[in-house]
Amino acid sequence: MTARLAIIGGGLSGLAAAYFARQALGADAVVDIFERSERPGGILRSASVAGRQVDVGAEAFVVRRPEALALVAELGLADQVVSPTGRRPAVWANDGLHALPSPALMGIPANVAAVGNLVDDADRLHIDAERQRPMDWPPGTDMSVGDLVDDRFGPAVTARSVDPMLGGVYSSLSADIGVREAIPALAARLDAGTPNLTDAVAGLLPAATNTAPVFGAVRGGYRVVVDRLLEAAGAQWHSGIEPALMGGPGDWQVADVGYDAVIVALPAPDAASLLADTVPAVAAELGNVAMAGSAVVALALPPDSVLPENSGVLVATGESLHAKAFTFSSRKWPHYESSDATWVRASFGRFRQPIAGDDHTLIGWAAADLARICDAAGVTVDTSPLDAVVQRWPSGLPVYAPGHLASMKRVFDARPAGLGFAGASYQGVGVPACIAQARKAVDAVVSEVAF
Ligand SMILES: Cc1cc2nc3c(=O)[nH]c(=O)nc-3n(C[C@H](O)[C@H](O)[C@H](O)COP(=O)(O)OP(=O)(O)OC[C@H]3O[C@@H](n4cnc5c(N)ncnc54)[C@H](O)[C@@H]3O)c2cc1C
Repeated sequence: MTARLAIIGGGLSGLAAAYFARQALGADAVVDIFERSERPGGILRSASVAGRQVDVGAEAFVVRRPEALALVAELGLADQVVSPTGRRPAVWANDGLHALPSPALMGIPANVAAVGNLVDDADRLHIDAERQRPMDWPPGTDMSVGDLVDDRFGPAVTARSVDPMLGGVYSSLSADIGVREAIPALAARLDAGTPNLTDAVAGLLPAATNTAPVFGAVRGGYRVVVDRLLEAAGAQWHSGIEPALMGGPGDWQVADVGYDAVIVALPAPDAASLLADTVPAVAAELGNVAMAGSAVVALALPPDSVLPENSGVLVATGESLHAKAFTFSSRKWPHYESSDATWVRASFGRFRQPIAGDDHTLIGWAAADLARICDAAGVTVDTSPLDAVVQRWPSGLPVYAPGHLASMKRVFDARPAGLGFAGASYQGVGVPACIAQARKAVDAVVSEVAF
């Protein structure tokens, strides 16, 4: 009998699941991908800006986890991986540029010296005395990162250091992100009885201050990875379709066709809609996951524009800039150093903060914010773009609220045999985490179904 697997969702998670399934099931297996849009890759998207393919979704991946590097190498793209130049991001706070606190753990400073001039004297005293204050953290506590840092180090540290860091990864303020979800090693230290935040952060810093590159990217952009992945998976690509899922273990039906197993590689709310009739308890749990929207504006500026000597700028909460972050691509990545243009990405939007402007307005905000940043840095940039592309991600990232991982564990515990879950909603939002989850989903259904 030929093994038959359906994958619903053709973003990175669905494509990676198809690739791992092909490896596990062999050349004869039927692997079908069903995708709502016409284009593979989901949030991995490259667009032409002034004639160059620029990533307007994810732009990089963490290389300190093995999964993304390993997959890129398996796809024959190892020689296309580039490392950043090593320049650091700055923080925009109090209408000026500051160094990012260092050493720090996801923006949580190790001590008062690490904060520099980012906070005032009262905040510095509060941070310095943190060790002396008793801490209430019963093992298993579910608390947001924002509430924890507000309490222990003060709201200015949250707004000016932790929010900018977490905002880049999750598109949410730290008040909406769980400690256990975003920094599980920190939660584990506090569970184990470390009596204050300063000591808990200090215990994790050797890993946090490792000087090896944290990120990598692929020359040519994520488009190259997506194309290679789809080809290597040898899957049937069905686009422009939102199939119905019916049946159950041993007899799954996707778009009225029978399969041995199904992998749902969708954001949680889409998965909830798909499963509402077939597995209502799982669908109800998935339906509780909120999504955070964002938008990326990719700018090509005149080639003689001189950007600040940073890889980018993270914007503190409550500032008058519209953008939440800038990546100075021409400063951050060697493969963006070019005589054709100066490349910049501006990011907008966070959970509960809808983006008010149309595309023209967003481009104007990006240019105006950049002009203020460059002015503060003492450099001159012609911010009238040669070209600009706006990419909106209305529900781009799941919100990892306190309790999210426990909720996703209940989903895994309750799923029927032969129904796997892959995607950013389950066990981490980054590209390596999505690849890891796709592999787990394939391993799970392969072990459950007698293909
Ligand atoms: C702006 C932005 C920047 C990011 N930057 C980085 C970065 O630099 N590094 C990093 O590691 N991570 C980054 N991420 C996170 C990472 O890109 C994503 O978490 C990851 O790409 C998600 O992949 P996915 O396949 O799980 O989901 P998606 O890419 O969302 O794919 C889901 C797919 O399912 C399809 N779909 C939805 N409903 C249905 C349905 N009913 N039927 C059929 N198809 C359906 C969608 O059209 C989509 O193609 C970023 C995220 C965003 C939003």
